[in-house]
Amino acid sequence: MSIEQKRRLVTDLPGPRSQELMARKTAAVPDGVGTTMPVFAARAGGGIVVDVDGNHLIDLGSGIAVTTVGASSPRVQDALTKQIEDFTHTCFMVTPYDGYVTVAEKLNQLTPGDHDKRTVLFNSGAEAVENAVKIARAHTKRDAVVVFDHAYHGRTNLTMAMTAKNKPYKHGFGPFAPEVYRTAGSYPYRDGDLDGAAAAARAIDQIEKQIGAENLAALVIEPIQGEGGFIEPAIGFLPALAAWCRATGVVFVADEVQTGFARTGDLFACERESVVPDLIVTAKGIAGGLPLSAVTGRAEIMQAPHVGGLGGTYGGNPLSCAAAIAAMETIEADGLVQRAREIEGLILERLSRLRDQDDRIADVRGRGAMIAAELVRPGSDEPDPRLARDVARLAHQDGVVVLTCGTYGNVLRFLPPLTISDDLLHDAFDVLAAAFRETR
Ligand code: PMP
Repeated sequence: MSIEQKRRLVTDLPGPRSQELMARKTAAVPDGVGTTMPVFAARAGGGIVVDVDGNHLIDLGSGIAVTTVGASSPRVQDALTKQIEDFTHTCFMVTPYDGYVTVAEKLNQLTPGDHDKRTVLFNSGAEAVENAVKIARAHTKRDAVVVFDHAYHGRTNLTMAMTAKNKPYKHGFGPFAPEVYRTAGSYPYRDGDLDGAAAAARAIDQIEKQIGAENLAALVIEPIQGEGGFIEPAIGFLPALAAWCRATGVVFVADEVQTGFARTGDLFACERESVVPDLIVTAKGIAGGLPLSAVTGRAEIMQAPHVGGLGGTYGGNPLSCAAAIAAMETIEADGLVQRAREIEGLILERLSRLRDQDDRIADVRGRGAMIAAELVRPGSDEPDPRLARDVARLAHQDGVVVLTCGTYGNVLRFLPPLTISDDLLHDAFDVLAAAFRETR
């Protein structure tokens, strides 16, 4: 059933049914699992989430960058229906099936670089990041892993160690995995005039002095940092790090969990500067909402773990694989890389206009359908997380699903599905403009 692509509120938010469900959630689910909005979803598709009270909300979150092809993509639905009729699970490690191999072939072909590759599938982004580290350690026979300020790589024990921000991700959950080191990255808005090459030289100097390349298995980096604040490094930063890794035998791992699959206006964000990672980690947008993640990389590195060393009961589940094949087909057939670039043009234009009138919007950045506005106290670069929270809350009340992020919590981020219409985007940014006026 198609969903009318219009914002429409028929109750105050949250409506009565959402309130009932929230009371049940509070009684049944630990408070540790927070929700951005106190509104329960009933259906979603295009650029709309319909809640259980019949309110139509504009989706600028895509379930945190997952439903790139929409939350009810016809190809994904058809592929899932067919796969459900055939079988739901056998376990790839017991009796394997075509879908897994097809997803691996597609990722080997689509990810940057034309070298010989292999792909292994998992369930979540964090699980794939952990496995990329396992593979890099098996290949290099070294232990250390380097990550960056503002990084986010997940919430499992190893990936908590790799994630930068204490609250809410790490606080009280230690001790964390050893041999994870953090260095400075590139944050153009807060780095003064440090260019990409200089930022890379600073990082490399720290790594060489404090860890030693000969001890380092992997450098793991998000080509555009996601949860940390949609931080796009200065030009030249990523290529310089990749070149240093190549020269020192360190495995360069691109965490494209959030940036992958057309999100940034390229199929993968690394492509913008022609960076070819040794290993690339993908998840989120890969499978139209089904849980799936992957590590793809150079055959000689991927082959390092012994037989039986990689896997998991559900990794590359047949339903997730069917959805991924359909999602990848949809990205190509519907020209979604190009659509992400159009969305970038529209959002940047709307945000730049807002910024010109409002000195609390300090930086507008990002690429494709992954755009952010960093908010500060006027006349300073002091982060203003309360403003981000207030603007988001007002937008939520008016039926726009918008997320915040950033180490300082002061970034509004925009991650619409690539199936959203221009009309919905304009309506959402009218709501945001009003929220900025109201918080003056
Ligand atoms: N890496 C990055 C860059 C992410 O953005 C995320 C999720 N926000 C993860 C890893 C972890 O993915 P998951 O939540 O699927 O474990």
